[in-house]
Amino acid sequence: MIDVHCDSCSKPFYIRLQEQSHVKGVIETFFVCPHCGKRTTVAVTNNKVRKKIEELKALRLKIGQEDDEKEIDRLRLKSEKLKTEIDEQMADLKQRYGKR
Ligand SMILES: [Zn+2]
Repeated sequence: MIDVHCDSCSKPFYIRLQEQSHVKGVIETFFVCPHCGKRTTVAVTNNKVRKKIEELKALRLKIGQEDDEKEIDRLRLKSEKLKTEIDEQMADLKQRYGKR
């Protein structure tokens, strides 16, 4: 639970995350202000992005277990690239399916 202030009415509330499915496996995570009903989109993912998020988790786990510094650098670079791809795709999805 995160305590935030609403962008719209500035009243504080606890975030209760909700999910809504859209077409083509797109899932939007959002919360609603209990005072004014303003909906804020936190994240929007599709199957492709969720797969990449799983890949990123696996990569980070691997980095934590790796001893070879060169290999760690290589994996870090790979995970940063993957993270950028995820951010870009999620930003794009958020624009398309986020709060209207
Ligand atoms: Zn509000």
